[in-house]
Amino acid sequence: MIFADKALLPTGWADNVRIEMSEGLVSAVQADAASQSGDTRVSALVPGMPNVHSHAFQRGHAGLTEIRGAGRESFWTWREMMYRFALSVSPEDVATLAEMAYVEMLEAGYTRVGEFHYLHHAPNGEPYDNPAELSDRIFSAAEQTGIALTHLPVFYAHGGFGPKAPANGQRRFLNSVDRFVDLVERCDARKTRPQDRVGFAPHSLRAASHEELNQLREALPNRKLHIHIAEQVQEVEDCLTFYGRRPVDWLLDTFEVNEDWCLIHATHMTEVETQGVAASKAVAGLCPVTEANLGDGLFPAPDFLEANGRIAIGTDSNVRIDVAEELCILEYGQRLQSRARNVLAREGGSTGRRLFDATLSGGAQALDAPVPQIAPGAPADLVALTEGLALGHDDALLDCWIFGRNVEPSDVWAAGVQVVRSGRHICRDAVQARFLAVLHRVLC
Ligand SMILES: [Zn+2]
Repeated sequence: MIFADKALLPTGWADNVRIEMSEGLVSAVQADAASQSGDTRVSALVPGMPNVHSHAFQRGHAGLTEIRGAGRESFWTWREMMYRFALSVSPEDVATLAEMAYVEMLEAGYTRVGEFHYLHHAPNGEPYDNPAELSDRIFSAAEQTGIALTHLPVFYAHGGFGPKAPANGQRRFLNSVDRFVDLVERCDARKTRPQDRVGFAPHSLRAASHEELNQLREALPNRKLHIHIAEQVQEVEDCLTFYGRRPVDWLLDTFEVNEDWCLIHATHMTEVETQGVAASKAVAGLCPVTEANLGDGLFPAPDFLEANGRIAIGTDSNVRIDVAEELCILEYGQRLQSRARNVLAREGGSTGRRLFDATLSGGAQALDAPVPQIAPGAPADLVALTEGLALGHDDALLDCWIFGRNVEPSDVWAAGVQVVRSGRHICRDAVQARFLAVLHRVLC
């Protein structure tokens, strides 16, 4: 049982809330209750946040690509470094890197991860005996750490529009449609926990052709589909050259984009594309920290939210793993551009609350999960926040977490199990030791 002085329920903030959990779910919620002996007492409790977009192994080179080379540094030079790292890790390393990333996600208040997983084969490009070997490692990492997993195996076939032949550095990613469908089905069979899901992810319009996208849609119906789109200006220009259309415009015109889709980044959109994605009910998977780190550009968030567009947040490159920082940078990017404050809030409402609510429900939709809430029958994925300095209105707790950073996650429950205590995951020490050993071997 958890006893929270304050909890964010579907009906709003409530005081003195006692929460019972059983078999991974919330079984009872009582407001204005009295605490009982044996209850775990916390200051404030909110639902866990879905992380809609992660490449877990990239946590291994976080902070190691910040040295300026000759000329203009860009996404493409960062990608070269990432490929070098991706080519040197073993299956055991993949598991360890993912465990470290998931430990940090849980500590940050994420309780579900959408793992956009494109590392499939051995370093020489040959499939492992079990073609789903590296997906298996991702499932294991999620099970070890407790985070709920929406596994998104990535289809990657080409090095660019045309299609261009893949580069040698992409050899661990490549599959034919048939081999990929087999991989997805093996992931279905690998799933052991009720909270886990399997979707799929054509990497991008440059890595999957029109024909392959059609074949994948047909072979893998009724699944969540994630795709990187319009992240880079160069990608928009290449798409214009090849299809004669901008990426989002082409996608909306060619496929029935709907609630099953999650468009990752969607950074570079015209007003018409922005309205089109909002109307499609697809989720825009935003990764503000990574987009800032890579110098991608700014998502048109004010227009998109105004048109009732659905958003979620993802940690993407995992250069930082921090719910509050994603939401803060999402808002601050807009403030810097428009020279205004509280740009993404509703009039009279809290910015933190608006962003928190929007990304909870958008994240759940994109990851095929129930909307995180503190209510009977919902997954017991819960985050306790320290009381900190939050005073005044109740939503100030969220604003202080996201903007003030004087409130932070302290304890986290995943499927009813307390996996984070006083800010530290129960497996942190062991996982961190293995993680450092991997970095030492790969980088030194
Ligand atoms: Zn990505």
